[in-house]
Amino acid sequence: MLAKAPKGTSDILPSRIDYWYYLENIIKEVLQNYGYQEIRTPAFEYTELFVRGIGATTDIVNKEMFTFQDRKGRSLTLRPEGTAPVVRAYIEHNLKRENPLVKLFYLGSMFRCEKPQAGRYRQFNQFGLEAIGSPLPIIDAEIISASLAIYQKIGLTDLSLMLNSVGCRECRPKYLAVLREYFLDKRDSLCPDCLLRYEKNPLRILDCKKEQCQKIVKKCPSIFDYLCEDCATHFLKLRQYLDTLGIVYQINPLLVRGLDYYTKTAFEIISGELGAQNAVGGGGRYDYLVEELGGNYTPAVGFAAGMERIIETMIKQSIKIPVWEGIKVFVATTDASYFVTALEIVNQIREKGIAAEIDFLGKSLKAQMRLANKLKASYVLILGQEEWQEKKVTIKDMVNSSQEKILITEILAYLQSLFLKKESGKS
Ligand code: ATP
Ligand code: MG
Repeated sequence: MLAKAPKGTSDILPSRIDYWYYLENIIKEVLQNYGYQEIRTPAFEYTELFVRGIGATTDIVNKEMFTFQDRKGRSLTLRPEGTAPVVRAYIEHNLKRENPLVKLFYLGSMFRCEKPQAGRYRQFNQFGLEAIGSPLPIIDAEIISASLAIYQKIGLTDLSLMLNSVGCRECRPKYLAVLREYFLDKRDSLCPDCLLRYEKNPLRILDCKKEQCQKIVKKCPSIFDYLCEDCATHFLKLRQYLDTLGIVYQINPLLVRGLDYYTKTAFEIISGELGAQNAVGGGGRYDYLVEELGGNYTPAVGFAAGMERIIETMIKQSIKIPVWEGIKVFVATTDASYFVTALEIVNQIREKGIAAEIDFLGKSLKAQMRLANKLKASYVLILGQEEWQEKKVTIKDMVNSSQEKILITEILAYLQSLFLKKESGKS
């Protein structure tokens, strides 16, 4: 148990880290291009924030939260998602003072106590974006377009955008009544979870993945027959903007998002590459959340994506990513008495921004050369007795095995000209 990570968690090892750097950089680059600024909120919040902000009838609040007490007995919860914390920060710091439309993005770990399986972990990473302050469907279109731009920049293919409207305070209650009516005589065939959902929030039945429920759900009345004029117009305009942007989508009237606070637009991006857990991200409008958390009525829309699932898709699609180029220069010595000089040399090289390494294990010269080879160093600087007396080092080109002696004082200029030559040779 000591040398084992807790269930549902995993280490991101150096062999995979380049994928994360790549993804994180693209997210920042694309979202800044769209005018979103990063916000970082704490890893835990008061439990009440999530109960109010996500909704008491959701799976997250009902069974997936990591909740604990601090020493004074206050209930805290590791964040299971990013929107409620961002909205909490928006209210707490009165961010709307600076701008009536606040555009934010975040990156970070989320925690949900779910049954671990492919694509579903207990600690996982999400990025998300939120636009707080506008009721207009044009901002919904922008959120969708910005999200897709990230996937596009990564180079992912085989993604589909699913789109729906879940109505508002005005029309959703009517649809819920219709759903209750529809499910009334079919309750015996629903799973136990859905029986509870029937009582609390029948919309959530549409989200059930169990086959017995899916069969019944397939034939249920469509929300589009019950949307109020405002919601119907909103949806129509959004479609028009998406068409303008050349964004292809599928309308799915059964798509409901996992969170209670969604209104109007709901959408999901799914990957043809993943199995059961195929959503690489989802989002929608949440016009009542700011109010629910104690602010003034402020319409908003956002998106969140699971980064592990994106990376899995990248690997399945063999997306080429830039990898760390590794060590460029290895400084080898024939004896520990040259360590002081070697340390100075390696330090100066590193200060010039050239990745350099040295032996820390007191290995023989032969073993150091093997190590330099393994590290794929382009050059090895050898400091032996002869060199030491001449105030020089032998510089060995590891590619063509040529070598020459140069003065220690000239190492930096020499290396810089070598790497400059290599750089210009590349292009
Ligand atoms: P799902 O139906 O796949 O459980 P969800 O509705 O719970 O998704 P959201 O709360 O919308 O998911 O989170 C947005 C994204 O975060 C998901 O589309 C998915 O990519 C990712 N995600 C959610 N839960 C997990 C998890 N336990 N492990 C890994 N990624 C997750
Ligand atoms: Mg879930």
